[in-house]
Amino acid sequence: MIIIQDFIPEGRPNRPGTRITGPRYITVHDTANPNNGADALAHANYLKGDDAASRQVSWHFTVDDIRIVQHLPLDEVGWHAGDGNGPGNSSSIGIEICENADGNRARAEANAAELVAHLLMQFSLGINEVVQHNHWSGKNCPHVLRERPNGWKGFLKAVQSHLQAAGTPIAGAAQATLGQALAWARSRNADQSFLKVAPIYWEIAGEMGIRPEVAYAQSAKETAFGRFGGTVDRSYHNWCGLKTREGGASGDPGAHARFPDDETGVRAHLQHLALYAGLEVQGDIVDPRHFPWLKGTAVTVEALGGRWAPSADYGVSIVRDYLEPLQNTEAPADDLVDKEAAQKVINLLGALWMASADELVQAAAHYAANALRDAAGIPRGEER
Ligand SMILES: [Zn+2]
Repeated sequence: MIIIQDFIPEGRPNRPGTRITGPRYITVHDTANPNNGADALAHANYLKGDDAASRQVSWHFTVDDIRIVQHLPLDEVGWHAGDGNGPGNSSSIGIEICENADGNRARAEANAAELVAHLLMQFSLGINEVVQHNHWSGKNCPHVLRERPNGWKGFLKAVQSHLQAAGTPIAGAAQATLGQALAWARSRNADQSFLKVAPIYWEIAGEMGIRPEVAYAQSAKETAFGRFGGTVDRSYHNWCGLKTREGGASGDPGAHARFPDDETGVRAHLQHLALYAGLEVQGDIVDPRHFPWLKGTAVTVEALGGRWAPSADYGVSIVRDYLEPLQNTEAPADDLVDKEAAQKVINLLGALWMASADELVQAAAHYAANALRDAAGIPRGEER
């Protein structure tokens, strides 16, 4: 994505030079100029001219089908939201999408979606912080997206898919096995209780469409591999530092959720992650903070920073310090087979070998039992 910088000169009446708050939002507009040639370059010229100066209008980016032009530095306020000194102008980045008849509108929208995703990541913002000009002033803008059925919805979806491509997705199928997770946790001297919850993560996460290794890595960070030692202890069955509905200070034990057992605690963790990832959660909600406004606000692990926890580095640390080492751990061979289960099958094969008069059946049972012993790392021991 190439961004051409062509700033409105400092001191012009439509470049107030006021420091932006945040930025906390991205405001999307359509240019409402369908004329041939009304592309991003034409708007850059317009903003440097006297008409824009006298009307005191300005915004940060204009996007057409082949380029993005930036008109203001991102730490300065533009006048585009129609709300005076309100939050639209004072705390949002303004983007105009071109609709010139001689341009390709679909491409312009696709470029704008990519730019919005880029800005959301740059400023650690979520999809809920992408708003229409209409949100601030009631104006019918961006009118092309608003007037086309599902236009705005589709635009946000395009932004989401850029976000997903750019980070570590929370949603999806498992990319690490339970055996890998256990081997990794053991190598970090995890508490026994942390090993015990791993199968619960792998079981429930699969049902919910969440990557279990992402949740387990987050839990390792939140609970110090089940050693706890912070405000919350093991008796809370709280594997992710989740607070109560009312919340409160991090150092306040009463501000943290307490669950009846590990399964409920893990389920609440996964439901809360699913909410951030924008997934629909089925069944009983045990997550005490399942607030609708959080939905879809962090589709990548990285985006959890500044949201799930105050630190902007929170999600990056989960990926770098926990998830990647987990995924790079090779599952030892004896983790691949449950030894206890293997022993039960071996006993059954032994009984079959004893009971059968058929030599072929006996040979097959004998062969299968030995193969299973080898795979499970059980010594062959005495031959019968
Ligand atoms: Zn507008």
